[in-house]
Amino acid sequence: MLNVLRTIITTGTVTEDWETALPPRRSRGEVLVQSSNCNACKKCAAACPAGAVKVAPGAISIDQKACVFCGLCVETCETACFKQTGNYKLARLGGALAADTAPELKGKIRAVLGRSLHVRHVDIGSCNACDFELAHLCNPIYDIQQYGIDFVASPRHADLLMVTGVVTRNSTQALQMTYEATPRPKLVMAVGACAASGQVFGDSYAIRGAVDAIVPVDIYVPGCPPRPQALIHGLMLALDRLQ
Ligand code: SF4
Ligand code: SF4
Repeated sequence: MLNVLRTIITTGTVTEDWETALPPRRSRGEVLVQSSNCNACKKCAAACPAGAVKVAPGAISIDQKACVFCGLCVETCETACFKQTGNYKLARLGGALAADTAPELKGKIRAVLGRSLHVRHVDIGSCNACDFELAHLCNPIYDIQQYGIDFVASPRHADLLMVTGVVTRNSTQALQMTYEATPRPKLVMAVGACAASGQVFGDSYAIRGAVDAIVPVDIYVPGCPPRPQALIHGLMLALDRLQ
């Protein structure tokens, strides 16, 4: 017991402020585009494993929900049209939350949920990297309990489903049943490029696609995998704590 206390005292506080703590130097995040250099060779689009790059005359665009931050477009482009940054704040509201009724709906959600959020994690076909990042949310560094957010063991106790992975043929029913078992008002967060777009898998008999092909999605958190700070950013959007 004394050894445990000594360790706690000598270790000090390790919890970081999720928003101000800098991601690691080599952390990969949002890819920025500079279309004016483009010569329309389309090598970037051919190199992109997720089909996220679209090249039109004078305009290149990246589908952030599909991008896996691999950096191949940056390496392939001979005219330096792409630049990889460490920006992880890419979470976006979707569905009714992003529509015109958002302020009213968000007000209702806040009135019901208050400033706490119970989360059920649902893995429907991920490689488990997103799941490892989710697990880090409960460690002493990110410590999401400090924000009134915690994981629960049943969808019947949950306010929000965090869904990882692409929807597989075999997991479709489990996702639908978990969604139905979650009481209203319920939110669904698609975590990672697989859940948000499913594009990196292409067409396959075993794949149904992104989460929003099966159930409505309220928050998209891009990344492959999204780092814990990106997940907290999405959770804060869900709780409407960000302006
Ligand atoms: S970083 Fe990779 S996945 Fe993202 S747009 Fe570039 S090539 Fe595509
Ligand atoms: S988004 Fe990337 S890390 Fe997450 S499940 Fe898919 S392949 Fe794995």
